[in-house]
Amino acid sequence: MSEPFHVLIIGGGIGGLTLAQGLKRNGISAAVYERDRTLTDRLQGYRVHISPTGGLALHECLPPHLFDVFDRTCGAPTSALRFFTEQMRLLLAFDGDFVAGTDPVARHRSASRITLRQVLLAELDNVHFAKTFQRYEEQRGRIVAYFDDGTRAEGDLLVAADGGGSRVRRQFLPDAQRVETGVIGIAGKIFLDTARERIARPLLDGISLVSARGGLGLFVAIQEVTGGPVGGIGGNEPALAGAGNLYDNTRSYLMWGLSAKREKFSLTDVELADSAALATAAARGMAGWSRAFRDLVDLADPTTISCLPIRTSVPVAPWRTGRVTLLGDAIHSMTPYRGIGANVAIKDAARLKRALVAARRGERALDDAIHDYETGMLDYGFRAVRNSLKAMHQTVTDSLPALMISRLTLRAINTLPPVKHIVARRLGEE
Ligand SMILES: Cc1cc2nc3c(=O)[nH]c(=O)nc-3n(C[C@H](O)[C@H](O)[C@H](O)COP(=O)(O)OP(=O)(O)OC[C@H]3O[C@@H](n4cnc5c(N)ncnc54)[C@H](O)[C@@H]3O)c2cc1C
Repeated sequence: MSEPFHVLIIGGGIGGLTLAQGLKRNGISAAVYERDRTLTDRLQGYRVHISPTGGLALHECLPPHLFDVFDRTCGAPTSALRFFTEQMRLLLAFDGDFVAGTDPVARHRSASRITLRQVLLAELDNVHFAKTFQRYEEQRGRIVAYFDDGTRAEGDLLVAADGGGSRVRRQFLPDAQRVETGVIGIAGKIFLDTARERIARPLLDGISLVSARGGLGLFVAIQEVTGGPVGGIGGNEPALAGAGNLYDNTRSYLMWGLSAKREKFSLTDVELADSAALATAAARGMAGWSRAFRDLVDLADPTTISCLPIRTSVPVAPWRTGRVTLLGDAIHSMTPYRGIGANVAIKDAARLKRALVAARRGERALDDAIHDYETGMLDYGFRAVRNSLKAMHQTVTDSLPALMISRLTLRAINTLPPVKHIVARRLGEE
C-alpha cells in the first residue's frame, strides 16, 4: 500500500459514514462526497433496527465516546417481537432477553435514522456536501472522481457507498441490476404523546408483524424516545425545521407499514404520492382485520403517510479486484422485510476498514485484502438479499396453504423454547 494512501467514499449514508469513522479512527486518509446537505428521502424520518452484528461493527468503527452517545440516544430497548394473525391472535412471541439481550455492545437497538446520521457525522471534517458523483476515471493507477458541479477529487481507492441507485455501480458493474418486486408499502407515523391511550397495548412495547390472508403484510414498531439529546446529538436537525412531522426527532412514535402487491391497493400513479389516497387504500386493505390494527391508519399523522416501492438487487458475479469497490445498498440492496440492510452496510464498512488497516500495516497486500473483503461481502450480502426477498414473499403471500403452514410453524416454534432460543440468536446474525 503506497503512502500517502487516500480513500474516496461516494455517499455519506449509513455505510459510507461508518467507513469514514473507522478509517479516521485508524489514521487512514479519506474523504466523503455526499450529494445532499439534508436527506430528503422521506424514509430518513423513521427508525432503523440495529442488530448485534450492526452494534459490534459500529463499536469497532466509532471512537468509544461516540459509540456511547449512539447507545444513549437510541430508543428504549425493544422488549418484544411478536407475530400475529390479522385478528391479533398471537402466533409467536420473543420477549425480554430473547430480544433485548444483555451484552452492552451486541444487542438489538432501535435507532432514529436522523440521530444515527448525527452520530456518524460527528467529528468528521472530511465530508463534502452537495457533491453529486458523476463518473470516475482511472489515471496512472489513481482514481479520479468527477462531480456534477464540475469539480473532481483524486485518490487511491474509490468506495461506492452511494446507495441503491449507485452511479458508481452503474459505471463499474453496468450489468448489475436492481429491480422492482411489484410490492409496495404504505407507511405512517403515530405520535404517542397524543395517541398512546388509543393504541392496543401489545403494539406498544416492541415490534409486531402480521402476514394476513389476501396477501397483505403489516409491520408495526415503536420508537420510544427516553432521554434528551446528548452533546447536541439526538435532537431535531435545524435544516429540517419546517419539513414536517415526518422529520420530528424528539417525540416518541409508533410507525406502521402495510405492504402488498401493488395491484391489491388499486392506486393510480398520482395516488401513490397522495397521503389521503394512501390512507384510504390502507384502510380498505385492512377491512375485516382486528380493530387494533385498523385504528393505526386513523391515528397516523396524515402528513407522514407515504408510499415506498420495494426493490431488490440481483446477485452479481465476482469481479477482478482493483481500485474501485462497493459496500451496502450500492451493491446488495435488499427488501426491508428482515430489517437488516443497514446492518449489512455497517458490517461491510467495518470489514473494509479492517482490510485497509491490514494492508497499511503490511500484513496483507492491498489487492488481497480488498479481494478478501469483496469475496466475503458478496457471499453474506447476497445471502441477506435472498433471505430478505424470501421474507417478503412469505409476508405478502397470496397462497392460503403457504400462509397456514407458516402460521403452524410459528406456533410450533412458540411452544419449543430451545428452538425459540436458536431462532432468537439468529435474529442478530447477518
Ligand atoms: C422502509 C425501510 C426500512 C428499513 N429498515 C431497516 C432496519 O430496520 N434495519 C436495517 O438494517 N436496515 C433497514 N433498511 C435498509 C437500510 O435503510 C439500508 O440498507 C441502508 O440505509 C443502506 O445504507 P447505505 O449506506 O448503503 O446507503 P444509504 O443509507 O442509502 O446512503 C447512500 C448515500 O449516498 C448518497 N448518494 C446517492 N447518490 C449519490 C451520488 N451520485 N453522489 C453522492 N452521493 C450520493 C445518498 O444521498 C445517501 O446519503 C430499511 C429500508 C427501508 C426502505
